[in-house]
Amino acid sequence: MFKTNRMLMILMALVLMGALIVGCTPADGNGDEGEVEAETIFISIATGGTGGVYYPLGGAMAKIFNENIEGANANAEATGASIANIQLVEDGDAQLALIQNDISYYAYEGIEMYEDKGKQESVRGMATVYPETIQIVAHGDSGIESVEDMVGKKVAVGDVGSGTEANARQILAAHGITYDDITPDYLSFAEAADNLRDGHIDAAFITAGFPTAAITEITQVSDVKIVPVAQDIVDALKVDYPFYTGVEIPAGTYRGQDDDVNTVAVMAMLVVPADMDEELAYSMTKALFENLDVLAAAHDRGADLKLESALDGMSLPLHPGVQKYFDEVM
Ligand code: GLU
Repeated sequence: MFKTNRMLMILMALVLMGALIVGCTPADGNGDEGEVEAETIFISIATGGTGGVYYPLGGAMAKIFNENIEGANANAEATGASIANIQLVEDGDAQLALIQNDISYYAYEGIEMYEDKGKQESVRGMATVYPETIQIVAHGDSGIESVEDMVGKKVAVGDVGSGTEANARQILAAHGITYDDITPDYLSFAEAADNLRDGHIDAAFITAGFPTAAITEITQVSDVKIVPVAQDIVDALKVDYPFYTGVEIPAGTYRGQDDDVNTVAVMAMLVVPADMDEELAYSMTKALFENLDVLAAAHDRGADLKLESALDGMSLPLHPGVQKYFDEVM
């Protein structure tokens, strides 16, 4: 015990000395007073689970900021996704977040799942990036061919705090199904894939850009199918929730998927805090749009970020620093 304490004290003394030495050294080493080293700018990027698309793209964004913004110390954090990310931005714990455009809209307006909580007004838009497709994956032995067949089944509805979970609820409701009619399981994409493989659940909702790693992996080892959403339901969803668009998952996106699959999609967007320094928001936007190749290399959907479409489906007011960049280049 005594030994440990002594070691600790020596360590602390060393750290203190180190701090003093650093504190006394002129930043540029030439003795000029008043010049300080570029301060560290922490950029925490809120993504989603590791089996999704937000996470690898967030990693690529961190790399871009670290290499192009002086003093940046950017990191991608795994989170519960969209709804959890709104909270992280609201709390000042994330400086950039990937969030579904439907969820950002509900949050900003204080509607849907934000009805009780009220308006979340500290979120601002940077750009919309790529379509996030609601992919319903069912185990081959589950007997599920359509959403209606999910009644009585064990279904992964998305992680707690995910946009996926909201989409699952809305899509089931459009079929007259509630959580009372199924056994809902709140799982990340990776957990859902593992549980589908092991036969512990019958189906999973996954709202993400395709191909989604978690689905690609499960199709390699298990017999699963992608369940379509019928066109009349797609039409009804588009009326009730304006951020849904109709899409098809092209045949061959996943192993064993021989036909195009009809479903709905929302958009992934980049969100920053309203109180972010204007220069920083500007520099981050500029860095991303000047390094699109790094995003494209991280995931197919990274290639979807484009100046021409950056405002398609934008559901939040833009941050003024972002606007400044767009005014300059558009
Ligand atoms: N859109 C998903 C959600 O918010 C996360 C997607 C991803 O991780 O790629 O629930």
